[in-house]
Amino acid sequence: MSRALQAGELVLLADRKGRHYMVTLAEGREFHFHAGSVDHDALIGGTEGMQVRTSRNAELTVWRPTLCDYVLKMPRGAQVVYPKDSAAILMQADVFPGARVFESGVGSGALSLSLLRAGAEVLGYEIREDFAQRAVENVMGFLGSEAADRFQVEVRDCYQGIDIDGLDRVVLDLPEPWQVVPHAAASMLPGGILVAYTPSIVQAVQLREACQSGPWASASTVEILHRDWHIKGDAVRPEHRMVGHTGFVTTARRLAD
Ligand code: SAH
Repeated sequence: MSRALQAGELVLLADRKGRHYMVTLAEGREFHFHAGSVDHDALIGGTEGMQVRTSRNAELTVWRPTLCDYVLKMPRGAQVVYPKDSAAILMQADVFPGARVFESGVGSGALSLSLLRAGAEVLGYEIREDFAQRAVENVMGFLGSEAADRFQVEVRDCYQGIDIDGLDRVVLDLPEPWQVVPHAAASMLPGGILVAYTPSIVQAVQLREACQSGPWASASTVEILHRDWHIKGDAVRPEHRMVGHTGFVTTARRLAD
């Protein structure tokens, strides 16, 4: 049974050209855009997947946003990790329900959302208070209070150390991840997995070097290439444009002492 759309819920309104608008449903409110308006009351009580007409007779399809939709539309402080990379990070880090995951920096909370949704308990250090707050708001906005209870963010510099023990996973997205490697080794359980996302290969190399002088093995560095395809009639080919680069994902596992 599909659940009816309720006031207070987020919906994504998609037009025929593939443009998406994210809206929080509220009784008595109207959504306006260049192709007319729609009353929220016409959506509340409906089901996702339904199609409605605007005041100017444009068609809109109503969906609950996916995590990917939400991350690309949510307010950002810091640059977010893109969904193709978050997906790879979840798998490389082998995140499981109940895993104790340390994350730093937390930034806008895009990666935190993926970790939390995979069931992890996320303990984050973020050096900027405004970003830490924004991340908590972004997490609440999509996953609600159940996930927020599994998300603790402290305003701290993780280069100075990690005051947490028994970590299963450490996930890093900050400029100098190699500074965190000794702290991660001290705070992680044997078999634990460290994953770091770095825009530059020079950062990845420096991180790999830091791992060589500690209790680490099974190191790897990958980049994820994501290419869309255009499929229309006989025209079946890769899209002309693609995002050429985002970052590298480096992984290592903690050895036993
Ligand atoms: N992964 C995040 C984006 C992180 S951007 C997302 O997907 O939304 C990098 C973040 O690291 C920034 O917010 C920055 O403030 C934070 N940062 C940089 N150095 C740090 C440090 N030493 N300790 C904690 N956070 C740090």
